[in-house]
Amino acid sequence: MTVPRPEFATDTGVVARLRAAFHSGKTRPLAWRRAQLEGLRRMLIEQEKPILEALHADLRKHPTEGWTTEIASVKDEIRVALKSLTRWTAPRKVRTAMLAMPGKSWLMPEPLGVVLNIAAWNYPIQEGLTPMASALAAGNCVVLKPSEMAPATARVLQELLPAYVDPECVAVYQGGPAETGALLEERFDHILYTGNGHVGRIVATAAARHLTPVTLELGGKSPAIIDQSTNLDLTARRIAWGKWQNAGQICISPDYVLVHDSIKDAFIAALKREITAMYGADPRASDSYGRIVNTRHFDRLAGYLDEATILHGGDSDRDDLYLAPTIVTDAADTSRLMTEEIFGPILPVRGWTSRDEVIGHVTSRDKPLALYLFSNDTGFTDQMLGAISAGQVCVNDVLMFMVCPNLPFGGVGASGSGSYSGKAGFDTFTHWKPVLKRSWMFDFAARYAPFTPKKERLLRKLRR
Ligand code: NAD
Repeated sequence: MTVPRPEFATDTGVVARLRAAFHSGKTRPLAWRRAQLEGLRRMLIEQEKPILEALHADLRKHPTEGWTTEIASVKDEIRVALKSLTRWTAPRKVRTAMLAMPGKSWLMPEPLGVVLNIAAWNYPIQEGLTPMASALAAGNCVVLKPSEMAPATARVLQELLPAYVDPECVAVYQGGPAETGALLEERFDHILYTGNGHVGRIVATAAARHLTPVTLELGGKSPAIIDQSTNLDLTARRIAWGKWQNAGQICISPDYVLVHDSIKDAFIAALKREITAMYGADPRASDSYGRIVNTRHFDRLAGYLDEATILHGGDSDRDDLYLAPTIVTDAADTSRLMTEEIFGPILPVRGWTSRDEVIGHVTSRDKPLALYLFSNDTGFTDQMLGAISAGQVCVNDVLMFMVCPNLPFGGVGASGSGSYSGKAGFDTFTHWKPVLKRSWMFDFAARYAPFTPKKERLLRKLRR
C-alpha cells in the first residue's frame, strides 16, 4: 500500500512562535511540564489504534511489536519522568570554595529554549516522542521533524499531538531534505538528530553556524561476539529476536556475528531453528515479520546478497518489499556487507580463533553503537569490555538496555554523540546553571588594586 505523504511544511516562522511562547515563561512551572507528559501518555493510550495502524502501514510492524518497542517504550520514559520530575528539577547544592566564603553555591536547572528533534523512520514513534518527552520534562518547546519515509506515522503525529500537548509550544514540521534544510537555517537551542552519519554531518554543520549544541543518534556496525562457553540455544534465540524484528531495520540490531570457530556450525544450525520457530517455514506468510521500508533500501539490501555465501533465506519479493531472514558467510572484509551498516535482515556470520583477532577486527573499524557479548567466561567478557569502545554494551542479550531508563542511550565516535533516556534525556535538554551567592559580610581586600607585595604574599598563601 502506498501511503500519501503529509503536507510538507514551508513555514519556518514556527520557530519564532515557539520562541515567543518559551519567553512567556509558560513552560517553566512543573505543572505545565507534568500536563505535557500526561497529555503524551493519554495520547498513546487513547490513540493506540491509529498509531499501530500507521506503523503497520509504514513498516508492516505487527501490533504487538509496535506496542512493545514504540508505545510502551515511550510510556516507560514518561512514567520515569513524571515520577522523577521533582527530584530532577531540584537545584543541587555544591561546596563553596574558601576564597568565595561567606557564600553559597548551587546548580540551577534551566530549560534551553526551542529544541528541534529530527527523527528517522524505523521507530518513528519512539524516536519522535521519547526525546520530546525529555525535552518537555526539562521545560522546553519542541519542533518535531518526523521522517518523510514513514509518512503514515508522520501524519498521525501531526494530527494527534495538538489535541494532547500545548500547541503553542509543540509543533510538527513535515518535510524531506529540502524542507529540513530550510528549517536548519533557523536558530535552535538544541538539535537532536536520529539517522545516518552522512546527514548527521549536514545537521552538525548547520547547527555550528548558530553554535547550537547537537545530540547525534547515529548507527554503525554493531557486532555480536560469541565465545565457546556461551549458552548456545539462548544466544541464538536472543540474536534472532534482535536481528529480525522490524526486518533488521534497527540501529542497534546485531549487524554481524563473530562466533568462535569451534561452535560456528552449531550456532548457525540453532539460528536457523529460531528463525523457523519465530516466523515459520515461510516468513513471508508470517504477520510477525516486517517489510523493508522502500524500494531504495530493498535494492541496496538485495545488492548485498551477491557478496557472500547464503546459508539461509535470501529469497525476496521487490513488489512486496519482502526480504527473508537471511544468514550469510564468507563475506570479504572489503565487501559492502562488512564495511557498511546493513540495516536489514541479512546477518553475516564469521568464525574466529583468537581473542586478539576479534579485538583487532572491531577496533580497526568505527566505534559501534552497540556491542553484544555472549559468554559464560567473565575473563572473556572483561577483556572485551576493556578493549572495545561502543555506545553501549549488552552481555548475554541484545537490545535490552533499551528498557532500562537508568542506562543513557547514545553513540560514541562515528555512532553518535550525546545521549538520552531517563535522567540523561532531561540533562541533554537542560542547562545546569551554576550560581554563586556572596555575602556582604566580609570583603577580602587583598584582591583589589593597588597590588602590593604583602597582598601578593597573602594571595599566594591562600591559593597554594
Ligand atoms: P531518514 O532517511 O529518515 O533520515 C533521518 C532524518 O533526516 C529524517 O527526518 C530526514 O528527513 C532527515 N534528512 C534526510 N536527509 C536530510 C538532509 N539532506 N538534510 C537534513 N535532513 C535530512 O533515516 P535514515 O538516515 O535512513 O535512518 C537510518 C540510520 O539511522 C541508520 O544508520 C540507523 O542506524 C540510524 N538510527 C540511529 C538511531 C539511534 O538512536 N542511534 C535510531 C534509529 C536509526
